[in-house]
Amino acid sequence: MHTWYDNELVPKGMVYFLPFSNTEGHLVLVYPKYKENLAIDKNKLWKVIHGKAEQTLKQKLSVNQQFDLDNYVIGKSKYPRIGNTFFVGNCLGAINPFLGFGQFTSILTGIYAAHDLCGLSNYEEDVQVLYQNYHDSLTLRRKLEALSNDQLDLITKYLHYKPVRKLLAGSNINLLKVLSTLTHPSHR
Ligand SMILES: Cc1cc2nc3c(=O)[nH]c(=O)nc-3n(C[C@H](O)[C@H](O)[C@H](O)COP(=O)(O)OP(=O)(O)OC[C@H]3O[C@@H](n4cnc5c(N)ncnc54)[C@H](O)[C@@H]3O)c2cc1C
Repeated sequence: MHTWYDNELVPKGMVYFLPFSNTEGHLVLVYPKYKENLAIDKNKLWKVIHGKAEQTLKQKLSVNQQFDLDNYVIGKSKYPRIGNTFFVGNCLGAINPFLGFGQFTSILTGIYAAHDLCGLSNYEEDVQVLYQNYHDSLTLRRKLEALSNDQLDLITKYLHYKPVRKLLAGSNINLLKVLSTLTHPSHR
């Protein structure tokens, strides 16, 4: 997997290349539709990104299939359940604002809802941890969006140091959670 963060190229967004196999992958460009981003010409930007990905990955990337999504709203539901209606997956707010992933959380909400229906636990209580994750993720997103390219370069440099990598990936400490709690302790 390769990700690009460049606030001059993709303001407050990112690009990632996710390989599926030795010959296929997914090149994704994501950016928020803030007022200052409305002037972006998506097709022009895509061409630049495609070229940049080919340059960085040192290979020709031919596009077999292409699609785009507009106005993809993300957020969280105020209530996890109203009467007999359980809000699960994206309907609860499964998408994490930091990186846009939501499959794992969606599966968890399905499991939690099933547990409640079987009388094993309480859905509204179980999802509190997901609300907390959403809050932490949004905090990180806002911090990330505020970084300049120089600051992004500095962070990337530190991520290459073995002790930092170990702390992030190989320990039981959730460094991103710690960072987000320190920078935004109160609940939204
Ligand atoms: C472009 C993009 C890239 C993403 N990349 C990632 C990623 O890399 N990793 C990750 O973890 N998450 C990713 N996500 C987020 C993730 O896909 C979602 O959070 C997750 O799929 C939500 O699961 P869900 O079951 O709530 O909804 P969905 O996966 O959207 O499933 C809802 C289903 O219900 C069907 N449906 C809707 N209305 C009706 C109806 N009236 N009757 C019958 N069926 C209906 C829909 O067709 C759909 O199949 C991405 C999202 C997008 C848009």
